[in-house]
Amino acid sequence: MSMHFPFDNSYARLGADFSAVQAPVKVSAPALIAVNRPLADELGITLGGDADMAGVFAGNVLPDGAEPIAQAYAGHQFGGFSPQLGDGRAVLLGEVVDSAGLRRDIQLKGSGPTPFSRNGDGRAWLGPVLREYVVSEAMHAMGIPTTRALAAAVTGDAVHRQQGALPGAVLTRVAASHLRVGTFQFFAARRDADALRQLFDYTCARHYPGAQTPGDLLREVIGRQARLVAQWLGVGFIHGVMNTDNTALSGETIDYGPCAFLDVWHPQTVFSSIDRQGRYAYDNQARIIVWNMAQFASALVPLAEDEDRAIAEFTEAVHAMPAMIDAEWLRVFGAKIGLADAREEDRALIDDLLQLMQQSEADFTNTFRALPRPQARAAFADTAAFDAWEARWQARLESEPDWRAHMDAANPAFIPRNHRVEQMIEAAVDGDLAPFHRLMAVLSRPFEDQPDAQDLALPPQPQEVVRETFC
Ligand code: AMP
Ligand code: MG
Ligand code: MG
Repeated sequence: MSMHFPFDNSYARLGADFSAVQAPVKVSAPALIAVNRPLADELGITLGGDADMAGVFAGNVLPDGAEPIAQAYAGHQFGGFSPQLGDGRAVLLGEVVDSAGLRRDIQLKGSGPTPFSRNGDGRAWLGPVLREYVVSEAMHAMGIPTTRALAAAVTGDAVHRQQGALPGAVLTRVAASHLRVGTFQFFAARRDADALRQLFDYTCARHYPGAQTPGDLLREVIGRQARLVAQWLGVGFIHGVMNTDNTALSGETIDYGPCAFLDVWHPQTVFSSIDRQGRYAYDNQARIIVWNMAQFASALVPLAEDEDRAIAEFTEAVHAMPAMIDAEWLRVFGAKIGLADAREEDRALIDDLLQLMQQSEADFTNTFRALPRPQARAAFADTAAFDAWEARWQARLESEPDWRAHMDAANPAFIPRNHRVEQMIEAAVDGDLAPFHRLMAVLSRPFEDQPDAQDLALPPQPQEVVRETFC
């Protein structure tokens, strides 16, 4: 086989406490759906012909040097603690060091049962695989830290879900690592101090070489997560399942399940069919990430020499996080109205705009994109109120010479709109991949006006609105 992955597998070397050896389970009729050639290049991976790629990316053929394992982790799911979750439908094939010198995980998701599957089938269906492919790559193109999609393949086997029998598929996911808050929680809950120490050393070496102490690690992760969540809010992203097992220590967005994007601006928006209480609603994300970091802090306590002092130090770090998120939010939303360096006194200008948008049920993405253009006014029900706001804004922009360029680089023209993603999935299930390829092409340049793709920028028609999303 001509395919080659330059594997160097550090996680497998951590030993049996950290993972279970588990090969992907073979499927009936692998076929390649998509492969990300620029990403493969960046990773030093040599791709092959379609048949070879289908075999590898559906899990039927193990590339040389792969050491497939299912990783162990725990996690709080919707607030309740599960001491053992783990990769129930994924295997880590191994790691490669990319062209920038960064170690990246290569994981198959949907590759069959593992010792952590509990009652699950270990599989994924084509819809969520393509949603993760499109949304993760779109997030990357928008400059938001995220896992990536290297490939998608169908398996030829049916997967049974609420909706009926669906085509099975496997996603090849690339991540800076799959270390999560839940990985620390797994060993903390077992009171395995040695493994916790080993995990701490591994995490610092891989992601935070400057961190010396558990407090350093906590503060570094808090910093990255504060920036990440502010970036999500800036593009109207709703993760949908911010459980602690889905909070990556690298600061990447991970685990695209029932995720969605705001259409109209409303801060309490929820899409996920499994989020009945709205725990992970759009604007709750900034609070939940603090809660998740508090859980991370708890899992780090056993590493401290002096627990009382550590608890005081960690509490201070967690309590500092809301203000950090606020500062990041101000930076992100300031840029969205053209401010290079928004100040505290600009907050009212942003809040007042959002309030007007909410009253008008204005489209979040398109209203910000249109703001420097004359058509913006039409999005507002109370045009007099908008005119008054615009006058204040224009006055503020007098000290911002590059405001237009800032805005066009901060406000995407194209996001993976929920209805377009659902339509793409329906077409793919019917065997038509053209909408998938078109979405991918347009979303790879989200900040460019693309006049021939205006249909992909339109908000949904009433009958197209997606109200609920499923994993
Ligand atoms: P998630 O909500 O996707 O983060 O998944 C939570 C946990 O459920 C993880 O341990 C997953 O591996 C596991 N899981 C999700 N779907 C399946 C499935 N179809 N089969 C087995 N395990 C699953
Ligand atoms: Mg998960
Ligand atoms: Mg998931």
